[in-house]
Amino acid sequence: MFRFPLAGLIAAGALALSSCAGTPPVQTQQGVAGAAVQAALPDRVILISIDGFRPDYMGKGQTPVLDGLVAGGAFGPMRPSFPSVTFPNHYTLVTGLHPDHHGVVANRFTDAQLGVFTMASKESGFWAQGEPIWVTAEKAGVRTGTMFWPGSEVEIHGVRPSQWAPFDQGMPGDARVDRLLSWLDLPTDQRPRLETLYFDIVDTAGHRNGPDGPETRAAAASVDASIGRLIEGLKARGLYDRTLLVVVSDHGMAATSPDRVVWIDDIIDPAALKIGYGGAVLTADPAPGREAEVQQKLVGRHPHMECWNKADVPARLVYGSNPRVGQIVCMVETGWLTATRDRPVTRPGGAHGYDNQAPEMAAIFIAHGPGVVVGRRLSDLDSVDVQPFLARMLGLTAPAGDGRPEDTLAVTRP
Ligand SMILES: [Zn+2]
Repeated sequence: MFRFPLAGLIAAGALALSSCAGTPPVQTQQGVAGAAVQAALPDRVILISIDGFRPDYMGKGQTPVLDGLVAGGAFGPMRPSFPSVTFPNHYTLVTGLHPDHHGVVANRFTDAQLGVFTMASKESGFWAQGEPIWVTAEKAGVRTGTMFWPGSEVEIHGVRPSQWAPFDQGMPGDARVDRLLSWLDLPTDQRPRLETLYFDIVDTAGHRNGPDGPETRAAAASVDASIGRLIEGLKARGLYDRTLLVVVSDHGMAATSPDRVVWIDDIIDPAALKIGYGGAVLTADPAPGREAEVQQKLVGRHPHMECWNKADVPARLVYGSNPRVGQIVCMVETGWLTATRDRPVTRPGGAHGYDNQAPEMAAIFIAHGPGVVVGRRLSDLDSVDVQPFLARMLGLTAPAGDGRPEDTLAVTRP
């Protein structure tokens, strides 16, 4: 039913894809031969996000650490949620809810009571429709430490991580690793059992240079080295063998071009729209008094773009029921961008936000550590499946979300 063509590009072990969604994950012959399961749950879980990291960035000689984790653990390409952008998907990863259900519906949106949400917003109410795993953990008495994660700087349901830091984009990856490691030097009763770690430079390079740009490859290599530093730090502390590493990304990246632009001006007067979010996906509300014009000119199919009223967004995208979603949702053909003539697209690069089933939008899921079946390959992971997996590995009872706990059972079962 759904396949990831990109999965075939992964060099670290052949992948076998199941024929349709819902069938058990298929294992390679190599995986069966090398399968080894450690029964006990880990002492701690470190959840690492590499923003904008595509599965095919691995296995090309620049990511030896990640390639080693894939070879010695479980791996699957992972479908992000729609829209395939950063804040919605990071919150999906830790809540198990699609963006339409956890309420962080875009990187920028408007809430009728709270006003405009931006990535700098610190208002708790924006995040209150979901419960992130660190809140579940802290409520159960499990200490957590977040070395950056969208939402981790905000008190949610009255709870904060025991350790956290305000996001500092200028902080190098190795410094982030060292801060996280320092929390593991705390007295045992204060040491986090769940930690998060976030790297943004691969996404930034992907936007500027496209997914195949040399700077994107260099950024991937740099993050890979930082994760190597983390592993060495865990080994030096005697903690590595009892630590589960879960490495994910929030979405992929597609190459864009000034030659692939959907000009909104050619469809409708931009002044008829209040654009909430634009680029690789577009959400908008009609300007007052121009509702009929928007319905007539914008809703429907256009070359390289389709727009719906929010109630009519295809069910597979799970988007549009939340009051925070704009009245009009436009999905743009992968690799194309919306723009207006006063803000044209001037140079090639990369973008995300497209159809979450587009192969270019595929994210990664790697699990490595106690209990994980060595060589396990998963074929039908969805970003909503990560939260129930984390809860299970931490022994936590977490709120039921949109994910299927059974999707990740094979990570730890032979
Ligand atoms: Zn992102």
